[in-house]
Amino acid sequence: MVGLVDFHCHLDLYPDLDAQVERCEREGVFTLAVTTTPKAWARNNELASRTKYVRAALGLHPQVVAERAHEITLWEELLPRTRYVGEVGLDAGPRFYGSFDKQKEVFAHVLSSCARARGKILSVHSVRCTTTVLDMIENSLPPSRGQVVLHWFSGTVAEARRAADLGCYFSINSEMLANEKRASLVAKLPLDRILTETDGPFTSVGGRPSRPSDVAVTVAKLAAMLRTSSDACTQLIITNLRSLIVSEAGEH
Ligand code: MN
Repeated sequence: MVGLVDFHCHLDLYPDLDAQVERCEREGVFTLAVTTTPKAWARNNELASRTKYVRAALGLHPQVVAERAHEITLWEELLPRTRYVGEVGLDAGPRFYGSFDKQKEVFAHVLSSCARARGKILSVHSVRCTTTVLDMIENSLPPSRGQVVLHWFSGTVAEARRAADLGCYFSINSEMLANEKRASLVAKLPLDRILTETDGPFTSVGGRPSRPSDVAVTVAKLAAMLRTSSDACTQLIITNLRSLIVSEAGEH
């Protein structure tokens, strides 16, 4: 069986990180374990480094920048030790707009450090500010210097087209396919840029928080939308993951 891909999951926000990592490994689900602070990265990375399928991403989430902007120093220190960065980005929603200027400072720093380091793969949050996020990516991180995966993309069709032109990928979760209007945007994304994610535990399946293997639900929905089989859709996601990962420096 071809494996599933969860390119954005907060494994350390479940009560049992070790068991979650083990489960991904057992089930063969390629999982990007994103972190919200760089302090959380070391433990995630320690567990992930013993696996074949789990990777730990070094994050500084825009929603915690108000209190934790200073942790950019630790983030910077750890960057040479990882290929994966996230969750990073911007959030212009009402709860976080107060720190928006600070978020932009931190994100600009993240992008320029990644551009300098080369070969990083970023999982990027962009709530209510897609154009600003794309402007910053365009200015600071050309595709030759790093790869961006837009997580839970919620912009317009025109913004999606622009993101694709900038080389971005999109990780799709079940919420993005929850109604026809949202799904119609996903249907317009370039097929070779689509990945899957759960954003667990922030999405749910049958009343419980999603786990990485629940991307199967998203794969099935995508397959129906694309009028193909789940197996063919799984294969498409794996192919896309492979081209993202081999895009530059080899995978470890
Ligand atoms: Mn997230």
